[in-house]
Amino acid sequence: TPSKEGKMFIKALFDYDPNEDKAIPCKEAGLSFKKGDILQIMSQDDAMWWQAKHEGDANPRAGLIPSKHFQERRLALRRPEIIVQPLKVSNRKSSGFRRSFRLSRKDKKTNKSMYECKKSDQYDTADVPTYEEVTPYRRQMNEKYRLVVLVGPVGVGLNELKRKLLISDTQHYGVTVPHTTRARRSQESDGVEYIFISKHLFETDVQNNKFIEYGEYKNNYYGTSIDSVRSVLAKNKVCLLDVQPHTVKHLRTLEFKPYVIFIKPPSIERLRETRKNAKIISSRDDQGTAKPFTEEDFQEMIKSAQIMESQYGHLFDKIIVNDDLTMAFKELKTTFDKLETETHWVPVSWLH
Ligand code: 5GP
Repeated sequence: TPSKEGKMFIKALFDYDPNEDKAIPCKEAGLSFKKGDILQIMSQDDAMWWQAKHEGDANPRAGLIPSKHFQERRLALRRPEIIVQPLKVSNRKSSGFRRSFRLSRKDKKTNKSMYECKKSDQYDTADVPTYEEVTPYRRQMNEKYRLVVLVGPVGVGLNELKRKLLISDTQHYGVTVPHTTRARRSQESDGVEYIFISKHLFETDVQNNKFIEYGEYKNNYYGTSIDSVRSVLAKNKVCLLDVQPHTVKHLRTLEFKPYVIFIKPPSIERLRETRKNAKIISSRDDQGTAKPFTEEDFQEMIKSAQIMESQYGHLFDKIIVNDDLTMAFKELKTTFDKLETETHWVPVSWLH
């Protein structure tokens, strides 16, 4: 389904180096790309190898990239939980670049059925990130702002960055008010610190998928509702939300158009240098008290960031390394300014 002006663009959700691809008919004809790159599709005539070029690249020569279908299949093959059975392929592998490139109909068919899922119900291609069709999008005047999701490991400084952003322009940025089932404290007001609701209502709301995330703490529920995001956006503010990266998938809708920023820790050496006098509320501390960072905290932060990036990196629109807080904040500010004024690539499904 080509988009406007017959051009089709995709965002790569994985890194690709044709030199390391044993299946490519000709390595020299391959196009290498990185996760997040925008590619223009020039031809999808072949079932296994599409022709593409980097978006904006003046060089008209297209290169070969694995087709979505082919890449999904072979990635699924590497995953033990997915049973994919290789079928016998007619022995035409060494037919050379030209021939396998201009496949006849018959060959196409053969290639298409190279791998067949034994249990198709176990094969969820949505969990195998390959490409996503995208289209340029620019916020229109009077249009609601986008939801901005901040993700990052505990202690990386996400809360501090969020706080700095909020106080830099309280009219422009907003955060959600969480729900809780615990009793209101005397100095608190309903709808300010929390929205106080009964356990029964909370449970009903959970069942009705009204929460983006929720958790339990000391026999009470706490959670962020979808409506709380809506009410920030309805005030014509940018909604800042920090959640676990696995929740992002559910927020990726036309309504929210989330822009996902990953706050990444610097190297462990830089962490030791820059966090010398800082404190952390460690995930291992049940009391929730702030203490000086330990070597273990640093290691946990780096490891957690690596896991987040490898599992959810394809959902990140921007990565900001929080080495120096002032610098990271500047970069964050610039990112927000650009988000509101420049054209960005969004999934085509958001605009239809
Ligand atoms: P407190 O009752 O002292 O206000 O908060 C207790 C705990 O609830 C805190 O550790 C806080 O992190 C957690 N909490 C507050 N809001 C939320 C929320 O929206 N979702 C989740 N999962 N936990 C929350």
